[in-house]
Amino acid sequence: MTAASAYAQSNFNRFSDQLKELLCIPSISTLPAHHADVERAAAWIADDMRRIGFHTVEIIPTKWHPVVLGEWMGAGKDAPTVLVYGHYDVQPAEMADGWHTPPFEPTEKDGKIFARGAIDSKSNVMAQLKAAESLIATGTAPCNIKLLFEGDEETTSENMNTFVTAHRERLQADVVAICDGSMSDREQPDLAYGLRGVVCMELEVWGPKQDVHSGHYGGTVHNPIQALRRSSPSCTTRMAA
Ligand SMILES: [Zn+2]
Repeated sequence: MTAASAYAQSNFNRFSDQLKELLCIPSISTLPAHHADVERAAAWIADDMRRIGFHTVEIIPTKWHPVVLGEWMGAGKDAPTVLVYGHYDVQPAEMADGWHTPPFEPTEKDGKIFARGAIDSKSNVMAQLKAAESLIATGTAPCNIKLLFEGDEETTSENMNTFVTAHRERLQADVVAICDGSMSDREQPDLAYGLRGVVCMELEVWGPKQDVHSGHYGGTVHNPIQALRRSSPSCTTRMAA
C-alpha cells in the first residue's frame, strides 16, 4: 500500500463526514432560489482546498454560478500537470419525486450514502479533493494538480466555453480528466476515453383535449400521433416498419 493510500484509509471516516457535509448543501443550479446555496457549496470546496494546501485557490464568478479553481504546483516545473474537471451543482430533488429519505439529508444504508448529488457528482468531486489531499499530505504527488469545479453543469455548462477561453493560460496541463462519470462496480474504477454528445429536438403536437368519437370525427380530426406521422416521411417509414 502506498503512503497516500494508507493516509486515505486512515482518514476514511473524516472524508466520509466531509462528503455528507457537502451533500447537505442544496446546490441546485437550475433554481434561482438556490443561488446562495450553490455559492455556499463553492465556498465549502474552496475552504477545503485551502486546508489541504493548494497554493492558489480562487472562486471565479461567471454569468451564473462560480467556478472553483485550485492549483498545487509543488511537483515542480518539470513534472507533468494534471487538470481535473468536475461539477458541484445538482438537479432539483423533492420527496414527492419518489425519494425514500430527504434528498439533502444524507442517509447511510447498507454501506451506501443516499442523497441528491451522492453520485452525480459530489462523490467524484470529493474523490479528487481527497486524492489530492492524500498525495500532498504524504509528500508523494508525482504531478502538479489543478482542480476545476463548476456550478453550472446541470444547466448545460453554458459558461464553460467562455471560462476556458478567458483562462487558457491558467488551465495549461499535460492531461485533462473529467471526473463526472460512473463506475460499473465499486471494485472496478472506469476510465472512459470518449463520450457522445447529446443531440435532441422537441416537437410539440396539440390535439383535442378529450377523446373524440371515431364514427363522428374519424378522418376529419387527426389525433397527435397521426399528425406526427404525416409530418415526417422518416417517421412514417419507422412507424410502418
Ligand atoms: Zn454530472
